[in-house]
Amino acid sequence: MNILSLASINLEQLQHSMKSWGLPAFRAKQILDWRNKGILDLSAMKNIPNSVKDALLEHIQVQPLKLVSKQKSTDGTRKYLFALQRDNQSLKHIETVFIPEESRGTVCISSQAGCVLDCPFCHTGTQKFEGNLTAAEIMAQVLAVKYDLLQDPMKHDLHHKVTHIVYMGMGEPLANEVEVFQSLELLMANDYLNLSRRRITLSTSGLVPQIERLGQDSPVNLAISLHTAINEKRNTLVPINIKHDLSRLRQCLNTYPLAKSRHITMEYVMLAGVNDRQEDLDALVQFINPERERINLIRFNSYPGSDYQGSATSVINNFAKSLISKGIRATVRRSRGDDIMAACGQLKTAKQGL
Ligand code: SAH
Ligand code: SF4
Repeated sequence: MNILSLASINLEQLQHSMKSWGLPAFRAKQILDWRNKGILDLSAMKNIPNSVKDALLEHIQVQPLKLVSKQKSTDGTRKYLFALQRDNQSLKHIETVFIPEESRGTVCISSQAGCVLDCPFCHTGTQKFEGNLTAAEIMAQVLAVKYDLLQDPMKHDLHHKVTHIVYMGMGEPLANEVEVFQSLELLMANDYLNLSRRRITLSTSGLVPQIERLGQDSPVNLAISLHTAINEKRNTLVPINIKHDLSRLRQCLNTYPLAKSRHITMEYVMLAGVNDRQEDLDALVQFINPERERINLIRFNSYPGSDYQGSATSVINNFAKSLISKGIRATVRRSRGDDIMAACGQLKTAKQGL
């Protein structure tokens, strides 16, 4: 899909296009000032004449997402369900989550509708794959959250601005390389969201050539869905491992360019009797490079029909303690938005099939 979209266009491109449509180019900056605040609704752009708005509507996609529903968790987490506004296609749905904390506000974005990689413990992986998102659809998720926070501010102590982005929603971002790389550029562009690469984290199940290109092009923080350091076990838990195994992943991680005092995060979802035993711990200790990597132990978020059980809290805590005693940085991820199925790996639209 190669259409111009307000959510992904930059100033120079919009000025150029507006001239070619016979519109005053100086309006481009005014329009993008609104857009950068999260406003894609032309009717809300008060200083833009109607004649310009009408002409824009003819030439450019204005709003690539339609908000279908929004849920708020008791812990402040918000989950949004969007329908992609594509012509002549059945409605596709994606989800986005906003996680407010005291010192940061994080948007967890989707990069694909569904995922083809089929990790057996992941809810998204069980969903039918419905395609890659465009850079505009990725950016529009962030804009929609900004807009919602303007309209419906958070109360008191929690952060109500978008300060961090994580590619941890639906889909495998590196399987949608072109659009995801473009969205990274837009997030970091001075004349768009102007976020530093230290505030963006991309989570991947381990597509080695794409990780290498990410390191060259946009070396944002990297999170790897490791889940086990035993190669044969990983073939089952993270099936992309059959193609890019742990030894290739190891080599590629050794050279990923890290920002100063940053680490690669190894995500490790704790599954009872599957990857939480002594042999798993030993393999993990062997695999990790403690100078450059840290481990984030994730509680398994169960969902109806899942075949796995999460490890008990005591097992998770002991696993973390053992890692720390070996000089490895390890943390246990707090699960957010559990009551609205907004936690990691729970994103799967209830509207599927509509
Ligand atoms: N496809 C990418 C990013 C999306 S998933 C990836 O796999 O990294 C974000 C994180 O949630 C990944 O680490 C993923 O393995 C984890 N995850 C998936 N299903 C989960 C579940 N049911 N419970 C907890 N974490 C899960
Ligand atoms: Fe896809 Fe990531 Fe889920 Fe695996 S964990 S199925 S790569 S979204």
